[in-house]
Amino acid sequence: MALPVITIDGPAGAGKSTVAKKVAQELGLTYLDTGAMYRAVTLLALRRGVDVNDDAKMKELVRDIYLDLSGGRIYLNGEDVSEEIRRPEVSESVSLVARLGSVRERMTALQREIASRGGVVLDGRDVGSVVFPEADCKIFLTASVEERARRRYLELQNKGIAISFDEVKQNIVERDKIDSERDIAPLTIPEGAHIVDSTGLTIDEVVQEIVRKCRTD
Ligand code: C5P
Repeated sequence: MALPVITIDGPAGAGKSTVAKKVAQELGLTYLDTGAMYRAVTLLALRRGVDVNDDAKMKELVRDIYLDLSGGRIYLNGEDVSEEIRRPEVSESVSLVARLGSVRERMTALQREIASRGGVVLDGRDVGSVVFPEADCKIFLTASVEERARRRYLELQNKGIAISFDEVKQNIVERDKIDSERDIAPLTIPEGAHIVDSTGLTIDEVVQEIVRKCRTD
């Protein structure tokens, strides 16, 4: 049997990356963080002073970008940017970048290429609806806005990033709105996806629920 593809979509701060990493570990699969790819493109645009609303300039920017996702890190043109892509400046602009057709086309192609042999757990906003609509198991992971904001706030605090709870919550609400309302590959519950609400559940409880739903052996 071919190696499985498992997709985990959902709104910002639902715990997708933490959970997807653990699900991958438990099932002996590789984890692919597609949000990190959009974040890396955004970081490059900010560094180069490219207007993220300028589709033509952004198209040029992604044409020559080199992204390497190995060993749980992300390298942008050879540089490890795993920490920097989590900064609030990147979070503020990433959903604008992710609206652009030129950027999505390139990222989708790269994601399909990386996961082409299967054996992968991907997380994102459109991985079960657009990137791999034929995935073996699809999850839509969600949680209340309050809980998502609280988790993200604690995560940023632990990293020593100065930001208020209200700012974190506002960013989450704004990103969800842009991600859900965009024309191309909007955030949606993929057809055939299992909905998992992680409000009030521990990480391990969520992981076990997903493993139960996706395990085939
Ligand atoms: O998952 P994360 O919060 O790091 O994703 C950052 C942003 O990247 C999202 O808010 C969304 O705008 C974009 N994204 C996307 N499609 C994906 C993954 C992420 O549009 N598959």
